[in-house]
Amino acid sequence: MEATHSASEQAQAMLGQLKRAGLRLTPQRLAIVEALAGDASHPTAQELFERLRPAFPTMSFATVYSTLDTLAVQGLVGSLRLGAAVRFDPNVAAHHHGVCDACGAVVDLPALPLSHVEIEDVRRTSGFAIRAEERTYRGRCGLCSEEPGKT
Ligand SMILES: [Zn+2]
Ligand SMILES: [Zn+2]
Repeated sequence: MEATHSASEQAQAMLGQLKRAGLRLTPQRLAIVEALAGDASHPTAQELFERLRPAFPTMSFATVYSTLDTLAVQGLVGSLRLGAAVRFDPNVAAHHHGVCDACGAVVDLPALPLSHVEIEDVRRTSGFAIRAEERTYRGRCGLCSEEPGKT
């Protein structure tokens, strides 16, 4: 598999797509895209809004949400629903997620994509056309499962 793109390359790709979608590239939208491109924590729109608000006091939550939503509709960012919250994901390669029971962190876990044969089998038997596969695993993240007290 190809190495993942750097955050700035990814931000550039997202910005090009927003432009093609007809959105003006305002400083606010630039900041939203750059904040998400470098963030592997799967932030919610609310979290990004609160992080950017000190720099952009006049920015509305609707601007943050609609920018992220446009990127998700275009397939440039992933979105996943955990409980009531929708989280956004700059990693669009096939992968699963691990959710930490202790701190709530959401981490990317590797996934082997389904083969064409498997996808064809599902389509033949059920008529369902698979686009993507996402699993959520529950457990403890690396930080929370570390043994305390080591020196
Ligand atoms: Zn944790
Ligand atoms: Zn992810």
